[in-house]
Amino acid sequence: MSAEERLIRYCSIDTQSDPTSAATPSTLKQFDLGNLLVKELKELGLEDACIDEHCYVYAHLPSNCGEVKKVGFIAHLDTSPDYSGAGVKPRIIECYDGGDIELCEGVVTRAADFPLLAMLKGKRLMVTDGSTLLGADDKAGITAVMEALAWWQEHPEVKHGEICVAFTPDEEIGNGTKYFDLEKFGADFGYTMDGGALQGYCDETFNAASAVVKFQGFTIHPGSAKNRMINAMNVAHEFHGMLPGHMRPEHTEDREGFIHLTNMSGACDTAVLKYIIRDHDADKLEEMIGIMHSAEDFLNCLYGAGTVTVEITYAYRNMKEIIDANPEVSERALRALNEIGYPPVRVAVRGGTDGAQLSFRGLPCPNLGTGAGNYHGRYEYCCIDELEDASRLIRTIAEELVPEDRR
Ligand SMILES: [Zn+2]
Repeated sequence: MSAEERLIRYCSIDTQSDPTSAATPSTLKQFDLGNLLVKELKELGLEDACIDEHCYVYAHLPSNCGEVKKVGFIAHLDTSPDYSGAGVKPRIIECYDGGDIELCEGVVTRAADFPLLAMLKGKRLMVTDGSTLLGADDKAGITAVMEALAWWQEHPEVKHGEICVAFTPDEEIGNGTKYFDLEKFGADFGYTMDGGALQGYCDETFNAASAVVKFQGFTIHPGSAKNRMINAMNVAHEFHGMLPGHMRPEHTEDREGFIHLTNMSGACDTAVLKYIIRDHDADKLEEMIGIMHSAEDFLNCLYGAGTVTVEITYAYRNMKEIIDANPEVSERALRALNEIGYPPVRVAVRGGTDGAQLSFRGLPCPNLGTGAGNYHGRYEYCCIDELEDASRLIRTIAEELVPEDRR
């Protein structure tokens, strides 16, 4: 089976997760892919492959060269709730000409809208039929892992240590590591296979917090409101206006953080604004939180104590501090990328990854690319040439862990 056939097979199974469900997995259909993978893993010689009640798949390829460091590879089963993943019908473009791609009548992936596509000129692309997402996020990651395992089965003479594999549910709704069993996984360090272009190496994520800002008004008949009424919605409006406009996500990129208003609700009596706050730099995150508290203090001076309350909850932290404390994890990946002909570009993810959570739980776990892009919608694609090389990247990292005299 080729990487292309494998990816088509996995993408044709609908595994969309559901943010409104409190259960894990959030949708039972994720078991359809999980169960298939357990069967395939066993056929590839990973005899202990299993799936637990929360739809986490674990498997281990035993070492064929004695004791060496154990590396793990992780990918997620689910696809984004943002766009349908049912009835995916992928199409292959044998040699992409670098121009616009008509997915179906009236639906066109415009090269001008997606500048990264220009780099894929001359390569093989998998695209959608314009009615669903592709699901290469993250079935390309799963495919890269499975292809590497299949290659090792066909080449038993090639030495490698124990390889730990995990496929997780519900990454797209933020629960990918909720029931992740690090002990069962057993790796010394790992990589999530959940990035975009293969040359992108991600060892950095945002620091993340959220704010719930509550406004308490003073309600009275508008006819007799003069000098008495405090309209909570107007105070909320003032609060939002005091936050710097240039810190909104629509004005930020690269390593610039943001304060993003995600929800607003209210009446004259009470109002609530919800924000998410993000920055790669933990100090800058604190500065933004400080700005929110300054606005809170100012408005409480103006309208009276207790009018505004800002509640901050911290979500996740930049994994860079953990990765930097384990420099060999990055060095191995960067060396392997160079070796397979992809001079790496370091990418600071403008979001979080499951690997960031796992890093803080003790498993250093940066993120590697798979060759896919334009996630979470019908313009999603996967470059098959890069996907094949992602599988080669996995093998290269693992094989270089074996001391020279045992290769
Ligand atoms: Zn993903």
